Amino acid sequence: MTPPGSTGAPRSVPWRVHGVLARSRANGPGLRFTVWSQGCSLGCPGCFNPETHRPEGPVRTAGELAAAALAAAGDIEGVTLTGGEPLEQPAAVAAFCAEVTARGGLGVVGLTGFTREEIEADPGRLAAVADADMVVAGRYNPRLHLGAGLRGSANKMYWARTGRYRAADFEDVPETEMVIAPDGGLVVTGMRAATAMAARAAEGLR
Ligand code: SF4
Repeated sequence: MTPPGSTGAPRSVPWRVHGVLARSRANGPGLRFTVWSQGCSLGCPGCFNPETHRPEGPVRTAGELAAAALAAAGDIEGVTLTGGEPLEQPAAVAAFCAEVTARGGLGVVGLTGFTREEIEADPGRLAAVADADMVVAGRYNPRLHLGAGLRGSANKMYWARTGRYRAADFEDVPETEMVIAPDGGLVVTGMRAATAMAARAAEGLR
């Protein structure tokens, strides 16, 4: 679905991006093209990804990333938007999701610190999840930390917007993965890595 107000031309919509993994198994069901947005102002105590908070970062475009995801469409199940806070850049997320669903039939998962109520109250955020099949919504709470699944903490909710995924599909997601990036660097992602980082952050809160 093309979001309200969109020109239908996502190519030039800017998107500050922290990182991209073209094929990830630890960020949702199946093999997924995963985008970490750069920038988050929500300030959850004990956040395990603080390097994604500052609003400055490399700028890509929604069209560029959609083209990369579509190039992999033959062997991936879908895309995952995480961060940082994807819904603080709603125009880019909306344009990207519209493109990959309309042209690739890819499933869309969004991980956000906003609650469902906050999303539904904001037309821009609601447009950004218009093509999402599953939204994992709500602030991270370190006192309710979960070591498995994709919620991060038990207060966060699975918001299934279509029948493509069920909450149970997310409980079997691998706890961690290590990927050699094209530049030779090692990328470690998944909830086990997040748990270790959350523990370090919790030390800092004491
Ligand atoms: S847990 Fe997510 S929403 Fe909360 S501060 Fe960290 S990046 Fe932002």
